[in-house]
Amino acid sequence: MKRKLADIAAMCGGEIAHGGDAEVIIEGVATDSRKIVPGCLFIPISGERFDGHDFAGDTLAAGAGAVLWAKSKGTPPGPAVFVEDTLAAMQRLAQSYLAACGTKVVGITGSNGKTTTKDLVFSLLATTYKVHKTQGNFNNHIGLPLTILGMPEDTNIAVLEMGMSGRREIELLSGIAEPECAIVTNIGESHLLQLGSRLEIARAKLEILSGMKPGGLFVYNGDEPLIPRVLDEPSTVKPEGMRTFTFGLGSGNDDYPTGIMYFEDKTVFTSKAGGNDTLELPLPGEHNVVNALAALAVARHYGVTEERIREGLRGAELTGMRIETVVGASGITILNDAYNASPTSVKAAIGVLEKKRGYRKKIAVLGDMLELGDAEADFHLEIGRFLTPAKADLLFTYGPLSEKIAEGAAENLEQDAIFAYHDKSELIEKLISVLHPKDVVLVKASRGMKLEEVVDAVKNCN
Ligand code: ATP
Ligand code: MG
Repeated sequence: MKRKLADIAAMCGGEIAHGGDAEVIIEGVATDSRKIVPGCLFIPISGERFDGHDFAGDTLAAGAGAVLWAKSKGTPPGPAVFVEDTLAAMQRLAQSYLAACGTKVVGITGSNGKTTTKDLVFSLLATTYKVHKTQGNFNNHIGLPLTILGMPEDTNIAVLEMGMSGRREIELLSGIAEPECAIVTNIGESHLLQLGSRLEIARAKLEILSGMKPGGLFVYNGDEPLIPRVLDEPSTVKPEGMRTFTFGLGSGNDDYPTGIMYFEDKTVFTSKAGGNDTLELPLPGEHNVVNALAALAVARHYGVTEERIREGLRGAELTGMRIETVVGASGITILNDAYNASPTSVKAAIGVLEKKRGYRKKIAVLGDMLELGDAEADFHLEIGRFLTPAKADLLFTYGPLSEKIAEGAAENLEQDAIFAYHDKSELIEKLISVLHPKDVVLVKASRGMKLEEVVDAVKNCN
């Protein structure tokens, strides 16, 4: 973003103060005082532990062209734009910037698969348009406006991930971004603790429609009955003339896979909307085919040709892949998904393990899934019951909740194939003692369980 300070003040509803020069050109914004680029606008955010206003003087010394400044914070240390609230002003600035650039927005939310789908939509649209996307996981009330403000002026389409942990959060993001296309990847159980029910989670996700442009396209997972249910609720705010497109595994959807072949490094599939054309996806698992169907719908909506779609999908670059394949010192294959876990994503990851061929043993190392609320024990039990000998030869569980995974697994796996631990070092010791270089090991749990320690131990063992 490159604008005169006067324009920035007008765009965010502020007033130039304290010697700010209306004509000075501001280029870019920063909320992190350590990432100042000369001539940028520093936007101080007041957090629980730090207040960005305390660093405003340093940013001006480092070359910032001006700072946004909350009036309640007294006198700014240099050229400033006075606003009531710096965060709200940044959000308003982002909204105005999008409108000024005439950039269309594809907004993506859902419980799982947002980042993956965002990367796939980006790859497909980038074959034909100038596209900008959320970097990494910058998907909240701060990350989303920053993503928009970091976009080049001539961007045709911005592909924005929208995350949440409660009601009204997606509404805010949708209001800023005003998507023309919205995707809901799925409704899972993440944040069940905060929201209380899957229905409430669905309502929170469908807030993405509240800021949508009239006549917009809503692309959603048609395998999830809660989505049409919430769509029909009178309280759901949606735009005039909204169109819908459903994707999923079920044959009642507008698009669904008609054939899938799994390879070590890719997945090849055909789908109803694509006819007999085979598509190559550089990602494992059925769930990623479903993510791809959502991306395909958006690409086709924007008129990307089938040839470019094929090319874009094959060359898709994914953000720090969540199921990362790591080869250990001994040659052992590790599927590292220790980044996060919810029942839906654990099942998806087990699905990837199930499709692995040519290994001596498939081993699942599963830890607790956190923040699931009252039904947490049942969710763990259900994961255990979901395991069968075709999916895993051995199961290691870690943590108190995961005892229920071990309990559920006893229905289909032999008792001597199940190892339940509360102590991570003990788990690691036992696991390493049974490992063979020709094994494949899936490691997955909530972030807080720190199962990357297991990944590291397996990686380094000989
Ligand atoms: P976050 O909430 O952390 O931003 P996200 O929604 O962006 O997550 P991704 O980063 O794309 O999701 O994927 C995270 C994990 O979720 C993946 O490793 C995979 O295990 C699982 N996953 C991805 N897509 C799906 C899907 N469609 N259904 C079920 N699980 C999925
Ligand atoms: Mg994400």
